[in-house]
Amino acid sequence: MSAQFEVVNPATEEVIGRVADTGKDEWLAALGRAVQAQQAWGEFAPRQRAEVLRAVYEKITERTDEFARTMTAEMGKPFAEAKGEVAYGAEYFRWFAEEAVRIPGRIGRAPAGNGDILVTRTPVGPVLAITPWNFPLAMATRKIAPAMAAGCPIVVKPAAETPLTMLLVAEVIAEAVTAAGGPRDLVQILTTTDSAGLSQTLMADERLRKITFTGSTNVGKILVKQSADNLLRTSMELGGNAPFLVCEDADLDLVLDCAMQAKMRNGGEACIAANRFIVHESLAEEFTARLTRRMAEVTMGNGMDDGVTLGPMITAKQRDGIAALVDDAVAAGATVRCGGEVPEGKGYFYPATVLSRVPSDARILHEEIFGPVATVTTFSTLEEGIAAANGTQFGLAAYGFSENVHTCRRLAEELTAGMVGINRGAISDAAAPFGGIKQSGFGREGGAEGIEEYLDVKYLAL
Ligand code: NAP
Repeated sequence: MSAQFEVVNPATEEVIGRVADTGKDEWLAALGRAVQAQQAWGEFAPRQRAEVLRAVYEKITERTDEFARTMTAEMGKPFAEAKGEVAYGAEYFRWFAEEAVRIPGRIGRAPAGNGDILVTRTPVGPVLAITPWNFPLAMATRKIAPAMAAGCPIVVKPAAETPLTMLLVAEVIAEAVTAAGGPRDLVQILTTTDSAGLSQTLMADERLRKITFTGSTNVGKILVKQSADNLLRTSMELGGNAPFLVCEDADLDLVLDCAMQAKMRNGGEACIAANRFIVHESLAEEFTARLTRRMAEVTMGNGMDDGVTLGPMITAKQRDGIAALVDDAVAAGATVRCGGEVPEGKGYFYPATVLSRVPSDARILHEEIFGPVATVTTFSTLEEGIAAANGTQFGLAAYGFSENVHTCRRLAEELTAGMVGINRGAISDAAAPFGGIKQSGFGREGGAEGIEEYLDVKYLAL
């Protein structure tokens, strides 16, 4: 039997599946099939491609519970949240079905009057996507759907912790593509424990034309360096350290609801999770007390159990990393308002935790927490608050709260991030360009911008 590796349920630590541990021969064969698939898919008119994408959207939606159960089992998130991710992840197929028929071009007279300038778009070519475990469905559909819409074949390497959801997605896509007479290998999944070997092998092969990655900044940098040899197109959706800035005149009821959304979605294991609550000094105590009450009400447990609102962390290593950040902050003088202790028993659980009076040099304010821990610090003038919010090497998401229109405008302009939520705790939308600046990477997923990542510009002089 060929090599396999195990998939573990992080709530129970039980093995729930085994998948192929592929190696070099399989990777290169998959790339060869992708090249073939590109030709066959190229014969599909935009409208035909759109209809296939729309069929994928319908099929995933019909099987929502099955997808959600698989995700909860391999990743841990509560079942209701997993169903939310199915809706969000499937939406990329619906959105890009609509974009497939709107790939832009333009024509204009050359300024010298000696001809016309025609600008068209062509598919980039075979794509490699590498995705993380935190949103096993949506982080890949944000890449697969625009690639298919643009006319590109794509090979996806899911995180080793969460391959099962992706294998299910591939099955649904193959059904829709082949039912329309398209190439079965348009979307292929390569599961492996050797992610570095896979990326090196495929990126060294001239047939690959693009790498799209979602994951940590460290790995993103490795991939950007590797992409240089073949000058691949690259999209890098990397880490975050989102500030959540609460101004003096904010509406605290709204702020609390949004704080819970921005912190606790996916148990805090989200790149746009609020990492740092930066609160005006006049509101800080009331905000912290109310946030602590809300966090203490969170029910931790197996995501399939009724009433559970916080599942386990993905691995023991991830949970221990969060605990270490909290312990470091407490040793530096932070106050634990709730949580802060790793519970006994099976599963990689970490409780909803609030830390106040966190010293500005504590590690937890400068690194991505990726867990259910809220840190609260204070500011007195708006300038100070904005400077604290922007005082990070990351620039993915930022949240700002105020009831004053001038302050809101200022926050929108001055918060340095690829995405800014004003009086909003949830900002993800398939119709909007998701992505960061600074050490959070480059490229955008979703929106009209998302498909551009999979298209080359071609200029025709006529
Ligand atoms: P990670 O360790 O960077 O892993 C992400 C993916 O990269 C996994 O599939 C992993 O495979 C693979 N990988 C690891 N080392 C590699 C290498 N040397 N070469 C090629 N591939 C490699 O990140 P993670 O811990 O899974 O995910 C959390 C991170 O993702 C956080 O930093 C989060 O902010 C970021 N994220 C960003 C966004 C965004 O849109 N900006 C969205 C979600 C998450 P294996 O695990 O199988 O080794």
